[in-house]
Amino acid sequence: MISFSSSFLQRRAALLLTLAVIALSNMSCASGGLNLFPKSEDVSLGQKMSAQIAADPQHYPILNNPALTSYLQSIEDRIVTSPNVANKDFHYKVQIINDPNTVNAFTIPGGGIYVYTGLLKFIDDESALAGVLAHETTHADHRHATRNMSQQYGLQAVAGLALGSNPSIITSAVAGLATNLSVLRFSRDDEREADQGSFDDLNKMPGRPWFPGGVKGFLQKSMASQKSQPGKFDQMFLTHPVDQERIDQVNTNLQKSGLSTATPSQLNQSNYARYKAMLP
Ligand SMILES: [Zn+2]
Repeated sequence: MISFSSSFLQRRAALLLTLAVIALSNMSCASGGLNLFPKSEDVSLGQKMSAQIAADPQHYPILNNPALTSYLQSIEDRIVTSPNVANKDFHYKVQIINDPNTVNAFTIPGGGIYVYTGLLKFIDDESALAGVLAHETTHADHRHATRNMSQQYGLQAVAGLALGSNPSIITSAVAGLATNLSVLRFSRDDEREADQGSFDDLNKMPGRPWFPGGVKGFLQKSMASQKSQPGKFDQMFLTHPVDQERIDQVNTNLQKSGLSTATPSQLNQSNYARYKAMLP
């Protein structure tokens, strides 16, 4: 039988209590469930992931086109001013991945957004781009990655953080980026929430510079094109399942808000075409 001295047990009990207090003081409950991670961990995890992406040009060839990147960033910066975006202190930095054969975008915790050139070629107007960016913004703003990790691993996931060590869940989440985007693979509930966030972000912006239903055309076109060009959509349908329900949700939102069609200035097609022409 193994015996412990009482002072050891007291220290251990105190440590466990401290861990529980830290976990409880940090957790927040969003509509989709409990998040045990502090917000600072979204930022820290995002920094590790963005470093991993930067060091892996084979999987993530970042496009070096300052004009195009600034254009996307200017739209993102404006979206973040929406009263609907809660975590305005995250670093919403947009980067473009030069892969014309992938129609997708993804977000890392803390606000890093990556858009593939395949998606930029696929869409036709600025409202669709704003809709996609606002969808990705919501994944970060609502902290879906750390919320999912909380649900999957519970207190075990944060225990190591409180001890100052790097829990294996964080290490494997970052390492997994090289081969897949598993930690960024969201549930249908997360997708619904991100679509709703996309609509609300754009709808609550003063003057509605972009059509709040911008993401709808993109979803419809994706569903239709997935059959004719399946390979281009594999990653998107893996990380962002698309179905008729998501399109219906946008339609319901549009009806509720009394919005039917986009104005030409909301679509800003000619401006979008000018930047689209810069794509390699
Ligand atoms: Zn999504």
